[in-house]
Amino acid sequence: MRHNKFIYVLLCILCCILFTVAVGAGNGEAIKSHDNQYKNIALTFDDGPHPIYTERIIDILARHGVKATFFSIGENVNRHPEIIKRLSEEGHEIGNHTWSHRLIWKLGREGVVSELSRTETAINEICNLRPRLFRPPDGLNTIAIKEAAIEMDYSVILWTIDTRDWEQKTTSKDIVDNIMSNIHAGSIILCHDFVSRRDSQTPEAIEKVIPLLKEKGYNFVTVSELIHSS
Ligand SMILES: [Zn+2]
Repeated sequence: MRHNKFIYVLLCILCCILFTVAVGAGNGEAIKSHDNQYKNIALTFDDGPHPIYTERIIDILARHGVKATFFSIGENVNRHPEIIKRLSEEGHEIGNHTWSHRLIWKLGREGVVSELSRTETAINEICNLRPRLFRPPDGLNTIAIKEAAIEMDYSVILWTIDTRDWEQKTTSKDIVDNIMSNIHAGSIILCHDFVSRRDSQTPEAIEKVIPLLKEKGYNFVTVSELIHSS
């Protein structure tokens, strides 16, 4: 009997390890999409929080009953704690996008760990949660980034569709067309809630694209929900 119990525990541990490897968590491998039978997709927003655009995007998501994932920069979290708090309270997922977003490619493992830790502490102090997802700035995945992600037990999340919404020439129609022509079950869509261009087209684009995607049967989930869906 005791022997059977031992085998059962061993099998459970083995299953957990296999599942973790299957979704890429903690092994430093970048996840760009995650196939699933439910037509689940994930909207993601990088570089915020921004004092105007993030709030505008949260309002649109709330109106449509959609949960998204925000990869926030530590410096901006520090500047706008009330927005990060709102994101968390409204059920959106918050990921780590480093503290400064600068020169990440130049940093060694320790430098990346420091950027992640600082941001993690800031988010934790405001929302009492520890982010589990890491999106490296510019989608870089250097050896140092990979090692830091493993050390800090983060899943590295990239994207399937890049809306290029930060470019001055990109219109809301471009964003919608790009998403609608490239979408498939398991897609991770990259948008930005902080852009340095004059007038962000992102809020208008997501206002238009959410109903179109719903009509086609897609379900919006957070990235953690997506990578754990079968
Ligand atoms: Zn970024």
